[in-house]
Amino acid sequence: METIVVKFGGTSLADANQIRKAAGIIRENPARRYVVCSAPGKRSREDVKVTDLLYRCQTLAEAGEDFQPALDEVRARFEEIVRDLELSFQLDVEFAIIREHLETRHERDYMASRGEYLNSKIIAAYLCFPFVDPAETVCFEDNGELDTERTNHRLFAALAPLDNAVIAGFYGARCDGVIHTFSRGGSDITGSLVARATGANLYENWTDVSGMLAADPRIVDNPRRIEYISYQELRELSYMGSSVFHEDAMFPCQRAGIPINIRNTNCPEDPGTMIVASLPRILPPRQITGVAGHKGFTSIQVEKALMNSEIGFGARLLKIFADHGVSFEHCPSGIDTMSVIVHGSALAGCKDKIMQEIREQLRPDALIAEEHLALIAVVGHGMSYNKGVAAAIFAAVSDAGINIRMIDQGSSEINIIIAVEEKDCENAIRSIYSRLAED
Ligand code: ASP
Repeated sequence: METIVVKFGGTSLADANQIRKAAGIIRENPARRYVVCSAPGKRSREDVKVTDLLYRCQTLAEAGEDFQPALDEVRARFEEIVRDLELSFQLDVEFAIIREHLETRHERDYMASRGEYLNSKIIAAYLCFPFVDPAETVCFEDNGELDTERTNHRLFAALAPLDNAVIAGFYGARCDGVIHTFSRGGSDITGSLVARATGANLYENWTDVSGMLAADPRIVDNPRRIEYISYQELRELSYMGSSVFHEDAMFPCQRAGIPINIRNTNCPEDPGTMIVASLPRILPPRQITGVAGHKGFTSIQVEKALMNSEIGFGARLLKIFADHGVSFEHCPSGIDTMSVIVHGSALAGCKDKIMQEIREQLRPDALIAEEHLALIAVVGHGMSYNKGVAAAIFAAVSDAGINIRMIDQGSSEINIIIAVEEKDCENAIRSIYSRLAED
């Protein structure tokens, strides 16, 4: 039997009306067997997500302040959903347990997870599907890392005997039973884990946009939708902050070769974006798939005559960053120069120490820290073995009157990364997009 795992995000399940739409999508295709749910999200721009309300309850409880009004807001959200769906779901017991937790324990992740837990139980009741609690199936190590293999076995054991199920997203538990959550937006990861464990043919991720866009619509007017994108391209773009899908969520599906389809609950007829292992050959050759930028980088530039012949220079330079727990993003080099590009925030509190150690241990001729850089990634399989793409990118940036501070091309040739000053980021993206990505 064909199996599709569907995950619905917070806006897709924000109220009874949205839940009815999601249920219609599920019922339309019997292959949509396993459903992963987020907590109710925002119903309007000014609204507050249930997860944020729950974090607020926890913060107030920890500070010894009155959390009841915030908890009442959470309860009101669920009461409205239960009433509008005409369910006889009992909320009293659930909220007594939540309240007791707030009074007696300080478990932030437990509290945050209750949005997914309750919404999924309610939706399971509405669909007449069994509810599967990730507290028993999604396993974390004591250090907070996901135990992927144990999770895979547990999810398989729980789901294989079931024709259908609703699984709460976002959380799991450690061996000692303590609830642990993924980072924000982590229900996408749960969906991908469920798809892998059930050997699904497809993972559909239903959200409030009709797929991924080739550029950030706050920067570029009306960017085109990406029809197909490879896992590798998605990784490059989401690393640079293009965010419709949690950046860790593709790995379980990628590992199992399961395609992912980003769809819009409010426009189910739109085909959305397909994330696949390799792009279909029938696609018209498009030079780039997308362009994304991220601000807040710092480049530490080291210059030393005859650096190229000093064995271990690069290793010693990078070790200084590693010793301070700072991971580097890029490391472009010349014969006698080397730059280490890091997130500015990672240097907070240790920048001076790192600069001092570089001076003492490597005795450079020059050492400069250049802050406020933006990195722009231009991504696309169409770029590899294709002449002239780099030239077009550089021409686009130069036409916009912008100076490029660094260039880096990954060995796979599917991305070119350039650094520009933060103030030039948006203009550079617009110019690159209009030259290389517009239809
Ligand atoms: N509800 C959680 C959040 O708001 C997780 C999720 O929706 O995926 O981040």
